[in-house]
Amino acid sequence: MRVLLVEDEANLAETVRRGLAAEGITVDVAPDGPSGYARARAGAYDVLVLDLMLPGRNGYEVCRDLRSAGVWTPVLVLSAKDGEYDQVDAFDLGADDYLTKPFSFPVLLARLRALHRRGAPERPVVLTAGDLVLDPGTRRVERAGEQITLTAREFALLEHLMRHRDEVLAKPDLLRAVWDPTVVSDPNVVEVYVRYLRRKIDVPYGRNAIQTVRGAGYRLAADGG
Ligand code: CA
Repeated sequence: MRVLLVEDEANLAETVRRGLAAEGITVDVAPDGPSGYARARAGAYDVLVLDLMLPGRNGYEVCRDLRSAGVWTPVLVLSAKDGEYDQVDAFDLGADDYLTKPFSFPVLLARLRALHRRGAPERPVVLTAGDLVLDPGTRRVERAGEQITLTAREFALLEHLMRHRDEVLAKPDLLRAVWDPTVVSDPNVVEVYVRYLRRKIDVPYGRNAIQTVRGAGYRLAADGG
């Protein structure tokens, strides 16, 4: 296994490098964002370990830009920050796993091996349906080139519909995918949010992207309606 570690704390980088070397893992270290990005793009690595707070270009930007450039190497984010928001951000930007500093070496090793096994399947960053565009990385939605502001829940619902475009999705399935069913259990909440979404992405444009399939659920038209 070959790992690129993007980490500006030299002592930590060296400790991790030595520990992984003892496990037969080759580690290259990049000490800042720009060199990390360049090496990740150029080199053939099995896993990238990416610190978030980096000189030059932070880990969020490095991860997002790598995905935009079509680099699908699994990314494990390392960070001293431990807020839930930061984890969500990192995942939205294309990271695959997350470890908060200080972390235990055996845990890091186990996560790296798991990511290595998973490989690097291609995951398109930007979702499209006709002129409807949703970017999970930047959390932007556009219709016909115009930016649309959605709430977090509206965004999550639209993202799920777009990831499964042209499939009929039942209300209970949407509820499970987008809401916490232990908190929200009434499938009618899906209907309410579909209405909110239509008012933002369809009605003003005279379109019908989110189609009702009687008795079955909803379907997002692949052509954007
Ligand atoms: Ca740092």
